Amino acid sequence: MTPAVFLDRDDTLIECTTLPAPPPPAKAGDLVDPRLVRLLPGVADGLARLHAAGFRLVVVSNQGVVARGGATLEQVEAVNQRLREVILTEAGVDLAGVYFCPFHPAGTVPRFHREHSWRKPAPGMILAAASELEIDLSASWLIGDAARDVDAGTAAGIARERCLQVGEGRDVPEFAAAADVVLAAHDIGAIVAEGGEVVTVLMHAADAGALCDARVRSTVIAAARAIGERAGLIVLHAAIEGDALIVTLGGSRLTGLGLLAEVRRATERWHRGRTGNGLWRGNDE
Ligand SMILES: [Mg+2]
Repeated sequence: MTPAVFLDRDDTLIECTTLPAPPPPAKAGDLVDPRLVRLLPGVADGLARLHAAGFRLVVVSNQGVVARGGATLEQVEAVNQRLREVILTEAGVDLAGVYFCPFHPAGTVPRFHREHSWRKPAPGMILAAASELEIDLSASWLIGDAARDVDAGTAAGIARERCLQVGEGRDVPEFAAAADVVLAAHDIGAIVAEGGEVVTVLMHAADAGALCDARVRSTVIAAARAIGERAGLIVLHAAIEGDALIVTLGGSRLTGLGLLAEVRRATERWHRGRTGNGLWRGNDE
């Protein structure tokens, strides 16, 4: 039994609603042409990171466009095949499964004109995948852009906090952030399982404006991650909030303070060379 991340397809992995509408009866938001398959920003990297952490990746997609007569099963399968190829090329990972539901109760194609247990928010696709691919649902996650994605996940028995809705004002703003949440929780689980602890440490800038510069912010965060990695630490989160660098990592408080001291050493010199001013509070160099 392995954990999986269940993934909605349209507007979660690939761009759909922003594309020109296909010919009716397909409508805006339907993607029926494999040549138009493009991963959204951050998706390739996010999928690669999830796969590297041991998650199987399973797409679960409503394709009511088939019931509406806007695409054939073969067209949906061609788009899904293209999606597999693009993910293999750009993320270097193979999807464990791609499930889709062609049924819709308001469809016009007799064969597909009905409600179906696979159609999200029903959990049928997730349950079928879990059984066929031997997936541990209790350790799995779901990432989607619509409320019905989250509802399908919870109906399948995945905890609500493991079902992430992506979008402005939702659980996470974008796919990369969803991957971050999954991986941070995964890492915390691994640290705790080994009897380790998780600590958060912070370090204030010399003045409130110093960390407003985007280049300074990205350099400081990259330094924290790189120094942590070099030391063999699991850095769960590194961010600038207000006038402080905040780092959450697996290890003792002393380990965290040691990491901050290294970040200070590396970035203070860089910042002085660039601006003539110190970056961190309490630094008299
Ligand atoms: Mg969607």
